[in-house]
Amino acid sequence: MSEQFDVIVIGGGPAGYHAAIRAAQLGLKTACIDSWVGPDGKAALGGTCLNVGCIPSKAMLDSSKQFWNLQHSFGVHGISVKDAKIDVGTMVGRKDKIVKQFTGGVAMLFKANKITSFLGTGKLLKGRQVEITAPDGTKKTIAATNVVIATGSAPIELPFAKFDGKRIVDNAGALDFKDIPKRLGVIGAGVIGLELGSVWKRLGSDVTILEALPDFLGVADAEVAKVAAREFAKQGLKIELGAKLSKAEIKGNEVHLTYAGKDGEKTLVVDQLLVAVGRRAFTEGLLGDDTGVKLDERGRVVVDDHCWAGVEGVWAVGDCVRGPMLAHKGFEEGMAVAEIIAGKAGHVNLETIPWVIYTEPEIAWVGKTEAQCKAENIPFKTGSFPFAAVGRAVAMNEPAGFVKIIAHAETDRILGAHLVGANVSELVSECVVAMEFKGSAEDLARIVHAHPTLSEAVHEAALSVDKRSIHKAN
Ligand code: NAD
Repeated sequence: MSEQFDVIVIGGGPAGYHAAIRAAQLGLKTACIDSWVGPDGKAALGGTCLNVGCIPSKAMLDSSKQFWNLQHSFGVHGISVKDAKIDVGTMVGRKDKIVKQFTGGVAMLFKANKITSFLGTGKLLKGRQVEITAPDGTKKTIAATNVVIATGSAPIELPFAKFDGKRIVDNAGALDFKDIPKRLGVIGAGVIGLELGSVWKRLGSDVTILEALPDFLGVADAEVAKVAAREFAKQGLKIELGAKLSKAEIKGNEVHLTYAGKDGEKTLVVDQLLVAVGRRAFTEGLLGDDTGVKLDERGRVVVDDHCWAGVEGVWAVGDCVRGPMLAHKGFEEGMAVAEIIAGKAGHVNLETIPWVIYTEPEIAWVGKTEAQCKAENIPFKTGSFPFAAVGRAVAMNEPAGFVKIIAHAETDRILGAHLVGANVSELVSECVVAMEFKGSAEDLARIVHAHPTLSEAVHEAALSVDKRSIHKAN
């Protein structure tokens, strides 16, 4: 008979490992199957986020920011450095060490919580049986009362610009360049394109980002996108909008790009190309016959509001289901499902998921944009405040950007917050809490904010909704 568990989680990325740990905490006999193998040939839990996503990209963003500041920002402090140099090997090595620390950390947590870990690929069979194929091809089947699918996502590959891992790469490849590309092409001015384009630009690459859509960062608030575009241009990041790639050919050490630009067909020659045109749910080979689980037209597991996959005891969480492909959304879904399985209440509010882009300046938002409010006929008012008038931001030499709060015109309830500037990845949390507590702009305006801090921009933006900001003309 197959080994029996209370919960089997397929996938040990952010959504999966949260589900497994929470289930184990609640006293459920839990197994987690994950196929990720690290550069040392050993299991590396944590999925895309820990191995080739959130954490390594932040390590590289931080290293490259230090180098950039050394060359471009230290002067105002009276600090000068001659002949600043960067050793890419050391930088990438530091990133790899951080990754290993965190993937190892998940393995330790699994051990501490008595979670049985299987290295291999999981396939859901009928009757909540799961077949595991180990890296050497051997198979075994285990079973559970509940199966949580958390197989994540994979980069979308363009048929006319296939990844070769060297010249044409995805996010993982762009975190592991051995040298700084002289000319780096990036397809897609989305989250990955902007973050990794920034890394290599700061290190000295000539970076050109081609974006198919006519508007820059259409998902963000229009004013935020405008400020961000201005700051990126100042940094020398070239972003061409309305530029749809049609061909990428590797010729020797170069990649020759052909794309439809605003003024007709254009070409661009680069040394390396990062393709970052989005991700797709990773569900190939996941389902055996007659499981009853359905995939939608984008290959995502169809689930209800509680991540239930429509078959008794089968759930799905994270990037492989509807909703934004964000690690923290997966964390919450994983924990919520474990709690529901254990008979508790679990729920994730998709309306208050914060978004962050870790560029310079950082970009963050939660809730609705002005454009969405207009489209939905919601009456609204706004208040905003520039970091240029925040003492701490100016003292830090980071005056770019602003905070904008959108509140309902009649009830004053906060509908959205849009931030661009230094450390807004942290500041957005206050707005998320306020929204989750159904707070009003008045609530935020009456809360004491420490002085001098960047959070005063949130406070003043909230005051400004009612035209009573102190440090600017209303
Ligand atoms: P994305 O959806 O953010 O951006 C892809 C961009 O590529 C879009 O602007 C799209 O218009 C453009 N595009 C598509 N086809 C094109 C073509 N042929 N030519 C030119 N442009 C084209 O996707 P991403 O940046 O690849 O990121 C993937 C996912 O990973 C996203 O869901 C993102 O939220 C997530 N992610 C999040 C973070 C973070 O939270 N900071 C970081 C990295 C990735």
